[in-house]
Amino acid sequence: MLRTALLAAARSPRVRRAVETAPPTRPLVRRFVAGTEATEALAAARSLREQGLRVSLDHLGEHVTGAEQAGSVVAAYRELLAALARGGLTGGAEVSVKLSALGQALPVDGEKIALEHARQICAAAEQAGSAVTVDMEDHTTTDSTLRVLAALRVDFPRTGAVLQAQLRRTEGDCRDLAREGSRVRLCKGAYAAPASVAFPRPSEVDRSYARCLAVLMAGSGYPMVASHDPRMVRLAERLAARNGRGSDEYEHQMLYGVRPDEQRRLAGEGRRVRVYVPYGHEWYGYFVRRLAERPANVGFFLRSLASRG
Ligand SMILES: Cc1cc2nc3c(=O)[nH]c(=O)nc-3n(C[C@H](O)[C@H](O)[C@H](O)COP(=O)(O)OP(=O)(O)OC[C@H]3O[C@@H](n4cnc5c(N)ncnc54)[C@H](O)[C@@H]3O)c2cc1C
Repeated sequence: MLRTALLAAARSPRVRRAVETAPPTRPLVRRFVAGTEATEALAAARSLREQGLRVSLDHLGEHVTGAEQAGSVVAAYRELLAALARGGLTGGAEVSVKLSALGQALPVDGEKIALEHARQICAAAEQAGSAVTVDMEDHTTTDSTLRVLAALRVDFPRTGAVLQAQLRRTEGDCRDLAREGSRVRLCKGAYAAPASVAFPRPSEVDRSYARCLAVLMAGSGYPMVASHDPRMVRLAERLAARNGRGSDEYEHQMLYGVRPDEQRRLAGEGRRVRVYVPYGHEWYGYFVRRLAERPANVGFFLRSLASRG
């Protein structure tokens, strides 16, 4: 219930204005978001790299309403990748992109426009010695996102996919994508979806995650285990051992600010760990999805609204 209400709030312009301007929200935002500027994201990336962690940087923004706005997102990624290369950081750094930020939802030729923009980012990433992972968004975009991913992989085979265990279709998608060289991030899913397409109960999502992970680990791709759930982390370790995967044949992924001790612990044990580092002015949608995942954070959220009267 709370999760659904928060995810609905993520789409309300009135709630958005109230939250964005409420001072108590700021410290909480800074826990999950590295900053508003690329320089702050680079500083966070450097610090994480020094702790033996890899990074995936995300220039925050989604649902652009014009091709021009989408073009400026491409420019931001180009600058970011060039700065990563200049800073000698691309070895352990990739970028995550959202197709809705690249024009996917535009009413005319949205998918085509998003693909063209994503191609430009993939080319810039390749030139910098880095790679791209295409985030997965609302369930209505899954088919379109997987089509764009397939088209990108023709020229940029390292492009990573993301699949959401909450969707009923995902075990099948895992089978399709668990192929040689295919980087696949498996997450539980952060967007509300109807029971016709998604498992409504967390326990069902967890069971789906376990089945999907088993498929990815048994396949010949490169699984990226995006979860903070200790049970999923342990399961990944067991499945990797059972399938004879070395520590360089899969990786754990966690979000910036979530279980940082666990991130360091796993890295200290010789595991590959990548931290998803978001930055930018458009932090609102990302931030509310993080609140929706953790009831303990909601108190701060409500206080920030109450202080606006
Ligand atoms: C690297 C990465 C990339 C992702 N990319 C996508 C994507 O492209 N599309 C998408 O839909 N979703 C994405 N997600 C989000 C994902 O779908 C989940 O919503 C999120 O990871 C929470 O699920 P969980 O597996 O950590 O398990 P949960 O059962 O939600 O959490 C397990 C435990 O982790 C801790 N925890 C989890 N979330 C938080 C939080 N916000 N604050 C504090 N503690 C927390 C708590 O201790 C909790 O008990 C991504 C997640 C990661 C880690």
